[in-house]
Amino acid sequence: MIHLKNMWMNGWGSMLKEDFPLLLKEPIVYLDSAASAQKPQTVLESIDSFYRSSYANIHRGQCSLAVRATEAYENARRTVADFIHANTNEIVFTKGTTESINLIASGYAQLLYPGDEVLVCIAEHHADFVPWQQACLRSGATFKVFDVLPSGKIDLADFQAKLSHKTKIVAMTHISNVLGMINPVRKISELAHQVGAKVLIDGAQSIAHIPVDIKDIDCDFLAFSGHKLYGPTGIGVLYGKKEALESLPPYQFGGDMIRRVTVEGTTFADVPARFEAGTTPFVETVGLAEAIRYVQRIGMEKIADHERFLTRNFLDQLQAVSGVLLVGESNEKHGIVSFNIKDIHPADIAFALAQEHICVRVGHHCAMPIHHRFGQELSLRVSFGLYNDESDISVFVNALKKAITLLRGN
Ligand code: PMP
Repeated sequence: MIHLKNMWMNGWGSMLKEDFPLLLKEPIVYLDSAASAQKPQTVLESIDSFYRSSYANIHRGQCSLAVRATEAYENARRTVADFIHANTNEIVFTKGTTESINLIASGYAQLLYPGDEVLVCIAEHHADFVPWQQACLRSGATFKVFDVLPSGKIDLADFQAKLSHKTKIVAMTHISNVLGMINPVRKISELAHQVGAKVLIDGAQSIAHIPVDIKDIDCDFLAFSGHKLYGPTGIGVLYGKKEALESLPPYQFGGDMIRRVTVEGTTFADVPARFEAGTTPFVETVGLAEAIRYVQRIGMEKIADHERFLTRNFLDQLQAVSGVLLVGESNEKHGIVSFNIKDIHPADIAFALAQEHICVRVGHHCAMPIHHRFGQELSLRVSFGLYNDESDISVFVNALKKAITLLRGN
């Protein structure tokens, strides 16, 4: 086996770029994988080939195409389950992280009562903040928010002070899409379970970047999106412990989620089918399964090491640039770095970088509360994927220095 350092020296990221047709075709430096990841050839081929060879609606027909399509869908569920060490009946296919979280929160809106509490972190993406705020508004439960430290690490003391027997659910991101910190999700689960609360982990930014094992985390729910995992858009996953899923009311009503419908009333299918109403994005599940096989062939540990190495390297170079203000002071970030440059609007820098064909993200990254907490309403965000390499970092840092000189007018 090649040692990672040697692989890195030999340009591991550059080698993998060759698997991504768009990165080969476009003269760009793509540093926006936290928004969405590029797609490898093998994923594109799996989708194309499914439409050409196995396409028919699932779970309905007897013809060979329908049988093949249904098998592919259920095999994709097995691939997802194995990837995070879950059982197949604990995997619900959704449209993405946002829908997965809305599914749980809209269920909780019917299960919570005044006096109950929901506890979320200030660093949540709006997708894991607003649905809980709304569930509390609808149910009369109390919405509570725990803090992070100036480093960007979660404030465990604040979490423990706010956690109580009134807490029914704790919702927290595994890796913040702004701070880039890997949160101590196992510890959070353990503490939350001690007071009888359920735990939802937003895995949107961890699933493609570090090994994610739900047995180890021991969370009740995990949500993630296919498109950030080198898979297609329009497909996501909600993992739920069987009893946790069974405690939720259905999210949408329609075909495929029922057991029996009569004029008098309807009974519902078992989980996970109960949460998969209508025609699901079944072709996209095939693309997602292929994306999972792709990252598994490389190895999640290796991907994590590579991106950790890139992030450290990037932070070293970035912090040598004058006027850099990180959102969250810690250097222990993983794959995501948000920052500002003193006295320059981040949109001006992003515009200058775009002229050099560098893709980064500027804005609040759908996480206004954490920006507000750090007194920086917007930021520039650089995020890595497995295809990035040292040359991407040096192109970025040189372009950043050039933009600063230009914008400062010296
Ligand atoms: N949570 C986090 C931490 C995210 O980064 C994102 C996407 N930026 C989401 C949730 C929402 O994901 P999606 O738009 O794929 O539903």
